[in-house]
Amino acid sequence: MGCAVADRLARSRVSVCLLEAGDDVAVGATRANSGIVHAGYDCTPGTLKARFNVRGNAMIWQLAEQLGVPALKCGSLVVAPAGGEEGLAELKRRADLNGVRAEILSREQALAVEPMLADGVTAALYAPDAGVVSPYQLAIALADRAAVNGVEVVTEAPVTALGKRDGVFCADTPKGKFEAKVVVNCAGASASRINAMLGAETYEEEFRKGEYYVLDHTERTNVSTVIFPLPTAAGKGILVAPTADGNVIYGPTSRPTVEDDTAVDAEGLEEIRRSVPLTYSRPAFNKCIRVYCGVRTAVGEDFVVQPSEKAEGLIVTAGICSPGLTSAPAIAEYVEELVGERLTLLPKEDYIEIPPRSPRLEELSEEKLNALIAKDRRWGKIVCRCEKVTEAEIVAAVHSPVPARTVDAVKRRVRAGMGRCQGGFCSTRVMEIISEELGIPMREIRKGAGHSEIAVLAVKEADDEKI
Ligand SMILES: Cc1cc2nc3c(=O)[nH]c(=O)nc-3n(C[C@H](O)[C@H](O)[C@H](O)COP(=O)(O)OP(=O)(O)OC[C@H]3O[C@@H](n4cnc5c(N)ncnc54)[C@H](O)[C@@H]3O)c2cc1C
Repeated sequence: MGCAVADRLARSRVSVCLLEAGDDVAVGATRANSGIVHAGYDCTPGTLKARFNVRGNAMIWQLAEQLGVPALKCGSLVVAPAGGEEGLAELKRRADLNGVRAEILSREQALAVEPMLADGVTAALYAPDAGVVSPYQLAIALADRAAVNGVEVVTEAPVTALGKRDGVFCADTPKGKFEAKVVVNCAGASASRINAMLGAETYEEEFRKGEYYVLDHTERTNVSTVIFPLPTAAGKGILVAPTADGNVIYGPTSRPTVEDDTAVDAEGLEEIRRSVPLTYSRPAFNKCIRVYCGVRTAVGEDFVVQPSEKAEGLIVTAGICSPGLTSAPAIAEYVEELVGERLTLLPKEDYIEIPPRSPRLEELSEEKLNALIAKDRRWGKIVCRCEKVTEAEIVAAVHSPVPARTVDAVKRRVRAGMGRCQGGFCSTRVMEIISEELGIPMREIRKGAGHSEIAVLAVKEADDEKI
């Protein structure tokens, strides 16, 4: 949300600052979700979720293309066993009310879309406008474009106090004090805490964890579309889906938890192992390369996107659970309107809509790659063998508008360490590149947030800088 709002406001002649508590953007719920661009057929008609999901779906494909973010409009199926016809009909009714394209298919028709459906599937709801996007790459690309257009993106700047004097807000962070006429609260699970600093509305938040299996690229050929079971009160259910980067995921669970509980446990994984075969005929748990977990924050049944009634100038986004990723561009568009009621938003004449970006190896023809290598030999050095990431791409990530300063920040930008060996081979080389490019000693290179330094002690007597 913060990245989408900052990107939107960057188009106007106002001074914008994005304050992020983490070591990077996209480290909260946006880091660990399903990455589905939902079509919008299951949101209750008339809700903010329905409105922003449908508009967000329409916006996100163009955004992804403009910004070079991996995305795939592969459609989705909600599959049902015998007896599930009523559930599908209800979804179709909602799709019609929400203005979403969807049709009910027989088993044979559904198999033509997705040949690997489980034997028990008798019918499905097909939504051609659904798909997948890389959630963290979308957020990073939005933050990068915002930064290119003048937004100050300050990481490791948790807002610890927020007050208002003479119509001006003042936020305290370890990186200094920041003043603003308008504050947009995009703090996800911490939304109430930020509001409380100003004596504004607080919300009863509910947290639900979602655990996943990530499978190797080799499984991608077996999955054509996003396969959902019929939704229940707990959510959209455990899906099987391709990822925008060419893996496959099984998940998520939906279990009550507390904020920040991103642990994956045996109970959650067992639930996924039981559920997947009910919709999909080729489960391949032996191809798992990683498990992960994200935490949803819900406030009642709908999103909260509104100006505070208690603190003038504060605009709140809270309870942005699923389909929040899909909805983010549309919520940001609406937040821009709300900001525009409080500040004059004049368009920037020198706004850069499509910032230059470093290409990815996979996008390059042999000819183009050779031309790049001739200019810079680092294009010829593969650092991550699994995902085929070159040294040049990693260097570009380290120097991107919102720079990658940790091993995980590099991983989210260029996928070094996302493959089968999970960084076993490339992590130390990535550390060396960050160290060389930023002049940070090896022993200070971190995996991610906080004290996550990787080289904890020297195993040989050596010059400290060469550990
Ligand atoms: C398991 C799961 C599956 C999901 N699947 C999908 C899906 O397939 N499709 C979809 O559309 N949506 C999905 N979602 C929903 C989507 O991930 C969220 O709606 C979205 O990521 C919420 O974004 P956010 O910016 O509100 O929160 P976050 O991404 O959590 O961002 C909040 C940010 O605020 C920062 N922050 C907190 N406190 C402070 C402070 N005091 N000072 C400064 N910064 C602070 C945090 O560090 C964090 O970076 C899913 C969510 C989960 C958990």
